[in-house]
Amino acid sequence: MRIINHFVLFVLIFMVTSCASTKKSETSSVARENFTFGTWITAEKDKSDAEYINEFKKYKAGGIDEVLINTNTDPKVLAHLVPLAKKEGLKVHAWIMAMNRPYDSIALQHPEWYAVSKEGKSCYDTRPYVDYYQWLCPTRKESRAYVLHLVDELAKIDGIESVHLDYIRFPDIFLPISLLPKYNLVQDVELPEYDFCYCDVCIAEFEKIHHKNPLKSHNTSIDMEWKQFRLNAIKKVVDDAYDIVQKHGKKLTAAVFPYPEMADHMVRQRWDKWNIDKVYPMIYHGFYNEEIDWIGFATAQGVKDLKGMHTELSTGIYIPSFKSGAELKEAILYAKNNGAVGVTFFDGPALTPEYLKTIKETKAGLK
Ligand SMILES: [Zn+2]
Repeated sequence: MRIINHFVLFVLIFMVTSCASTKKSETSSVARENFTFGTWITAEKDKSDAEYINEFKKYKAGGIDEVLINTNTDPKVLAHLVPLAKKEGLKVHAWIMAMNRPYDSIALQHPEWYAVSKEGKSCYDTRPYVDYYQWLCPTRKESRAYVLHLVDELAKIDGIESVHLDYIRFPDIFLPISLLPKYNLVQDVELPEYDFCYCDVCIAEFEKIHHKNPLKSHNTSIDMEWKQFRLNAIKKVVDDAYDIVQKHGKKLTAAVFPYPEMADHMVRQRWDKWNIDKVYPMIYHGFYNEEIDWIGFATAQGVKDLKGMHTELSTGIYIPSFKSGAELKEAILYAKNNGAVGVTFFDGPALTPEYLKTIKETKAGLK
């Protein structure tokens, strides 16, 4: 009897432990399947379907699950590419440059839509840093309606997963530290030529709420209401975009700065307050002279800040900053181990055969 009891106990223990290990391996495979690999790509005018198909096949074979395609907001080009990518097993997101609309032929017919600097100069003709910085005012009724109209046009496209907002912020009040020498700039304080939007509508709307004019502020960099007003203006565009894409049964996603406090400080973007399905923070360590472990830190910070929200986070990784596949693998694991639901690479053409091999192998080894 005693022996039988021991036997029963042994069987019970065996069953419990084997159930636990089955459960554990099921959880692992679910986690592995849910961890998504993506890449940003830009559509090219003269590229043939056969070339696109080859490119999509290459990504899929390398473990990529989704592509975020910039078509310069051309719904026809995107509608053409969606079935080609889907046929190869890739999900597609409609990547749009939202508040920065370079060379936009419609916006350019409305000079008053453009953001104005503290110096009183408009992005329409005085562009900060680079010629393609042509930012629209997020407050003005007509400019924000135009951006939301573009979102609506993309959201209508059959088969896309999300409309993916990029440049959903103000122009950089501070550039990433590694870019400053390139522009021969020192930015120790907020400089008026990079500080936007001081257009008539923004000033008037702000005055209605706060009964003061930011242009008369002793120090706008510590005028919290003025900063909050601008954070809220961007949030309002995002929240309205969310309602639009939802109507079309699509999701809303965005490429954002590394983590909320940093995004707030550098570009007036507070993405942990937005109504959005997924964010893709551009955790580009090389831009900030940081090391690879910073990818883990920034991912964890964003994940913590999103706690309690419905927003997921996929870590954006800048491929040219890596020296080897081993480094890239390290970055992927930092993202995964710090709570990201995926990683997204910038950009597709930078994914060499070596890096795609690394991605595929890293994906297969995820626990
Ligand atoms: Zn404005």
